[in-house]
Amino acid sequence: MDTKEFRQRGREMIDYIAEYMESVGERRVTPDVEPGYLRDLIPSKAPYEGEGWPEIMADVETKIMPGVTHWQHPRFHAYFPSGNSFPSILGDMLSDGIGAIGFSWAASPACTELETIVLDWLGQMIGLPSDFLSFPENSIGGGVMQSSASECVLVCLLAARAQKIKELKALHPFVEDGVLLSKLVAYCSKEAHSCVEKAAMIAFTKLRILDPDADLSLRGATLAQAIEEDKAMGLVPFFVSATLGTTSCVSFDNLAEIGPIAEEAGTWLHVDGAYAGNAMICPEFKYLMKGIEHAMSFNCNPNKWLLTNFDCSTMWVRDRFKLTQALVVDPLYLQHSHSGKSIDYRHWGIPLSRRFRALKLWFVIRNYGVAGLQNYIREHCRLAKCFEALVREDDRFEVCNIVRMGLVCFRLKGNDNNDLNKKLLSNINESGKLHMVPAAVHGKFVIRFCVCAQDAKDSDIEYAWDVITEYATELLEAEIVKEKSGLPLDVLEHSNEEVGQVAHKVEISELMDLMERVHMPIQKQNSIASIGRQGSLASVGRQQSLAIIGRQQSLASIGRQQSLAYIGEVGNNLSEGGEQETANKPRQRPSLAKRLSKRQFSFTDTIEFVGMVNTAQDESMNP
Ligand code: PLP
Repeated sequence: MDTKEFRQRGREMIDYIAEYMESVGERRVTPDVEPGYLRDLIPSKAPYEGEGWPEIMADVETKIMPGVTHWQHPRFHAYFPSGNSFPSILGDMLSDGIGAIGFSWAASPACTELETIVLDWLGQMIGLPSDFLSFPENSIGGGVMQSSASECVLVCLLAARAQKIKELKALHPFVEDGVLLSKLVAYCSKEAHSCVEKAAMIAFTKLRILDPDADLSLRGATLAQAIEEDKAMGLVPFFVSATLGTTSCVSFDNLAEIGPIAEEAGTWLHVDGAYAGNAMICPEFKYLMKGIEHAMSFNCNPNKWLLTNFDCSTMWVRDRFKLTQALVVDPLYLQHSHSGKSIDYRHWGIPLSRRFRALKLWFVIRNYGVAGLQNYIREHCRLAKCFEALVREDDRFEVCNIVRMGLVCFRLKGNDNNDLNKKLLSNINESGKLHMVPAAVHGKFVIRFCVCAQDAKDSDIEYAWDVITEYATELLEAEIVKEKSGLPLDVLEHSNEEVGQVAHKVEISELMDLMERVHMPIQKQNSIASIGRQGSLASVGRQQSLAIIGRQQSLASIGRQQSLAYIGEVGNNLSEGGEQETANKPRQRPSLAKRLSKRQFSFTDTIEFVGMVNTAQDESMNP
């Protein structure tokens, strides 16, 4: 591709992206593909000769897009938002165009200097203490961009480990590092992100996972007690990770209480605000950061909730020398004459090579302004409150978290309702109408509804709630059917795959009894569908809770919405009027038989039925 073609394809690509973003709502939010779908569509070997651009782009729409989950879709409510704004996309384009690798100041001075300046901007916007910034006089703090929050937590834990080993070594110069390491213990709450556990695992240190309080907030007293117990056992507390906005339910650890305790114990306090930390740019949320003055480091991800594309995880430290002492290696080929006067970000993280990520954040902050970014955050919080109100109005549901930011955790009420909520979530996700993920809150399966789309609207929230309630109603009515049918539960609930099948032989009279018993709810829902042997399955509407279809129909083609379907052939004794009751053949219900026969069953003598229970896959408990 030469420059001339690049101009043309570049313009086409911008058009493609703009068109994609404008019309993403018309696509299915999650792909309807099975693992390995792409292997059948793409050759197993790379082309030897280069291919033309139009051929490549044609494959994007036909092969790639069908397997894409559309994170920018208005119906995407999973995980957390994935920042994606036009200024940010342009910033990344420019960074890719420049193609500089700014690992040191000398490797590309603008990369380093812009990063330092923009991190100071954002640090001030968030309200970090001035010793976290680079420019205040005599400051030894500063900010840096990492690829992810996980990386931020890891490098801080490594720095804390190096610092504590250094302190211990000064006290016990003849004790092996490995022995000292075995004494170190870190702390976090049960609600902390799994990246803390991973960091401790990588660093080979102990991690004590503490119980939060009833509001899922880690409290000072809990930390203090754990530290005391561990010290009594000869362990050395060295690192505490507190979370502002936990992944499951956006709860906030009590930094004001934890801060002084962590500091007094001589630990490195890291504050992980991957998602909610971004909201600290709004003055009304800053109270949640009280206690930050005791922290050694803080991170938030503008690539989550500040309209900036992945990757952009921002991290600040109070003492850059304590950070870098764990990470500095200085071969001759990377040294330069300005080392003393400049920052070399290669010492602040794990990779050497670094993209020019500051550009996109700089574009975003300048183009939206602080006010524009505050409005964006506030709008998401407002919409989450609207959703919360809708959940609270429906007494079948309960809200399971304190809704402060853009996330609402909710579930169908009932202590033993985990399976029902799992089913509700998988039915909704499989429909492709919405995408949400679950979490465990207080040990219960909850559904997380996160406001994610950049310009989410009230109508999106209303739509989502309509879908959720529609599926909940269907599910709850199917439960009534199940209950009233009196069929053995193991038959109804048996499943070993997404759609489980169980052979269930019933006498025709039993079937009629069953039909009669479940008659009321079905009648209420107007939901009996009956299709003869040749009947089209497509005509089984999505709302049916109970469908009766011919034996020859394929199970796979039954829509995913059915909660309960019986497949089989109905004996021809289902004729109007039924049969006379005898000892072997109890009385049939003529009225129901009449209704069924009017719906054109294909009648034969067979009375074997297959019960099919829709049991979509479980989601994993946490994103
Ligand atoms: N910390 C918290 C509180 C998170 O919510 C997440 C992800 O959602 C992470 C850390 C991990 O983020 P990353 O994917 O940037 O490593």
